[in-house]
Amino acid sequence: MICKTPHLGSSTYHCSECGNTLSVYNTCKSRFCNSCGVKYAKQRSLNIESKLLNCNHRHLVFTIPDKLWPLFLEDRKRLNFMFKAVNLTISSWFKEQYKNENYKPGFILTLHTFGRDDKWNVHIHSLYSEIALGNSKSKKFDFIPFDMLRKRFQKILLDLLEKDIGKEKFRKLKNWVYSTSNNGFYVRAKKHEFPDVRKGISYILRYCGRPCFASYRIINIDNSNFISFWYQRHEDDKFVVEKIHIFEFIARLIRHIPDRHFKTIRYYGFYASHSHSLYNTCRLLIDKIKLPFYKSLNKWRNLLILYFNFDPLKCPYCGSIMKFEYG
Ligand SMILES: [Zn+2]
Ligand SMILES: [Zn+2]
Repeated sequence: MICKTPHLGSSTYHCSECGNTLSVYNTCKSRFCNSCGVKYAKQRSLNIESKLLNCNHRHLVFTIPDKLWPLFLEDRKRLNFMFKAVNLTISSWFKEQYKNENYKPGFILTLHTFGRDDKWNVHIHSLYSEIALGNSKSKKFDFIPFDMLRKRFQKILLDLLEKDIGKEKFRKLKNWVYSTSNNGFYVRAKKHEFPDVRKGISYILRYCGRPCFASYRIINIDNSNFISFWYQRHEDDKFVVEKIHIFEFIARLIRHIPDRHFKTIRYYGFYASHSHSLYNTCRLLIDKIKLPFYKSLNKWRNLLILYFNFDPLKCPYCGSIMKFEYG
């Protein structure tokens, strides 16, 4: 709320021709801010694009039963288990399949902590390359057996949780999980295969790094501090209106702010190893040379020029370019 207000200070620009000065309030740089968060997400998708290969990628969602969700709120460090479990699931399968050539796919995982209704809902989105790279060869593949993924993911995650929580304490919940989901955890493949990897990236980043609540969904805030907002329910696509106290509303939102230094996007397989010789010879989605240029387009001044054809640093009195003075 203090973004672009005097609270965060300002930067001053000076025109050396006519002496005009311009003060620009600083932004908050918070991922949770509706304005800075969107900019941050853009920056991040550029970073991802600069690492991904220019090939087909597939999108998988790894979900867990809702009864397990509170365990991750109880101790947020456990969120790391989600990454670990998905990574082990995919990597161990590849290892078994291709023992000799050591084929690895490249994949990125992003953790989401909410669904459409902003409630706590822990799941992982993954985007994996349809080529695997070996020591000296590459291999196209487009099939990973689902049954295997589901069961393997379930076992690995439950084992990690059990180790952390303790056998005794976790037994009841673990038994419940095994008795209700014998087919493993639900792993969803998104039908749309992204013909364009960029679309895939922006899709999985849609909820990640940008604020989880778009302000246009707020319908009303009344005098007794109750807020009404709408969301589209996941189960049946119905529009639902909910009315809760603003304190509860804020409490629901801030749970989704990642802990300091917690990485919500992680790279695995050949995307994780910068020294993979074959990977280094493949064509990337964004050329390394173009990256700084694309990034520069996301800067405040350039965004205004790009979208509004307005240069904020051009002196309105004499037309010279104002220089940064202090801030
Ligand atoms: Zn001037
Ligand atoms: Zn901001």
